[in-house]
Amino acid sequence: IQFADLNLAPELLTALNNADYQTPTAIQQQTIPLILAGNDVMGSAQTGTGKTAAFVLPLLHKLLSTPAKDEPGNARVLILTPTRELAQQVFASFEKYAQNTNIKGALAYGGASIGPQVKAMKDAQVVVATPGRLLDHLIKGSLKLSSIDSLVFDEADRMLDMGFIDEIKRILRHVPSDRQTLLFSATFDDSVFELSKKLLKDPKLVEV
Ligand code: AMP
Repeated sequence: IQFADLNLAPELLTALNNADYQTPTAIQQQTIPLILAGNDVMGSAQTGTGKTAAFVLPLLHKLLSTPAKDEPGNARVLILTPTRELAQQVFASFEKYAQNTNIKGALAYGGASIGPQVKAMKDAQVVVATPGRLLDHLIKGSLKLSSIDSLVFDEADRMLDMGFIDEIKRILRHVPSDRQTLLFSATFDDSVFELSKKLLKDPKLVEV
């Protein structure tokens, strides 16, 4: 199976070609069609498996092919990560795959001044953030989450280990319940299952 078989937009296939990716990895092959079809997905995958592209590519495809329901300019994809480093990595992937599109993104993490992040939020369709700083932005009013179509939890196990459950619950109050939710985790212990039961609707399970 090739990337061209996955029904991704030509802009995305060009970016993959530029990145010199030959074939989709196992998690990409399994996850991309499920996300494009609108399913909630629970993915068990370590770093290095290609999990970032497995959710970023189909979410970009959906942004390209579905008009905004709400006011343009409101974020439609929110990706939460436990750490600043992971947020930066995911954002770099987003920029690589979105290079031939007009889709704008914003990156938000703590320990850096909030001003430039506020500015970037204004016209971002894709927001990559750590939970604490995202809440700061919500409180400040620098972004609204009422137009979110897709919510991603990357490395959910680490998010719980780091004690972000309260932040997650507070963020969820701002996100429409009529949304797609994707959850990726290296491990699936009881606490991750418990969280996924609250967040996901009839999730498809993908394990690599
Ligand atoms: P990740 O598991 O998302 O952290 O990705 C691990 C690394 O694999 C990253 O450097 C990606 O750029 C790269 N990568 C992702 N998908 C592919 C692919 N289909 N072919 C080659 N490299 C890939």
